[in-house]
Amino acid sequence: MVINVPYTRRSLKGSADVAEVCLMCGVCCAVPEYGCPAQYGSRFTPRHTYVYDCLGAERPSSNPSIWLCVSCHKCEELCPYEVSPISFIKTVKQAALEEGKAPDVATTEIEQVVNTGYAFPITASTERHREDLGLEPLRPTGELRRIAEATGLRRLMR
Ligand code: SF4
Ligand code: SF4
Repeated sequence: MVINVPYTRRSLKGSADVAEVCLMCGVCCAVPEYGCPAQYGSRFTPRHTYVYDCLGAERPSSNPSIWLCVSCHKCEELCPYEVSPISFIKTVKQAALEEGKAPDVATTEIEQVVNTGYAFPITASTERHREDLGLEPLRPTGELRRIAEATGLRRLMR
């Protein structure tokens, strides 16, 4: 299986190397209970794997399937050839973000984390539960905003 990845090695920061040695053997997806969790659902089966779908796409950064990857690293752990699909997928996600192709659900989540420091909104219910448990109220932190500015992530969010 020849993988069609129209990106330069330089633009993929070395991740193209791992894509090129994936043999599409399917081991990382063969046993549903232990393999890639993103293969579940109507679009993925062990025969047409998540790895196949992502790495074999004509334009990986335009492939909506990359956003189904939950970064669990199972594929990396299971691969007998020491391939790291997740390294490639992470780089492609970054390319999609830079090209303005990231879906709203992803950019909204990024904004939530950067603006508050938390992955989920702090609701009144959350605060009540914390109060019941004797915990301090949660307050948004500005640290991630400063990191996002320094790393250029903030610019991509605008
Ligand atoms: S990442 Fe590894 S285990 Fe998965 S299909 Fe490619 S070669 Fe096989
Ligand atoms: S890191 Fe992504 S591609 Fe790899 S097993 Fe997890 S969900 Fe699947």
